[in-house]
Amino acid sequence: MRAAVRGPVSPGRWTAGARPKQDEQGRWQRNGESAKSELNAATLRSALGKTNAFSTCKALRAGKRCLTVSAQHSSQDCAAYGHFYRDSRPTQAALVCPRCGYQDSADANASRVIAQRGVDEVLAGSCRERDR
Ligand SMILES: [Zn+2]
Repeated sequence: MRAAVRGPVSPGRWTAGARPKQDEQGRWQRNGESAKSELNAATLRSALGKTNAFSTCKALRAGKRCLTVSAQHSSQDCAAYGHFYRDSRPTQAALVCPRCGYQDSADANASRVIAQRGVDEVLAGSCRERDR
């Protein structure tokens, strides 16, 4: 079986406003709301729904099944052995597994974790065929 595996596309969750911040005395601090607002607007302008529909269409035309799996902790799970540590990201861009020493870019690691989750679902027979 050939398949395209992805995490869920949910821009509504990605575009939540910045949380207010207070210091120890209860005074309000800068929270980057204006920068977050611009990022949210750019995310919504990017037409993620259409990108999702087009990639699904292309996968189906190529004879692949489309699987959607959970993306939770995919950038913190170790793609080599599945170890999970909250402090596995020394920088935003890198993953270093504290247990086995596996190193990769955070994005590449997350894509491998998501692909493996798709394989696991197929092998377990629990995959849902969402897109025909
Ligand atoms: Zn590891």
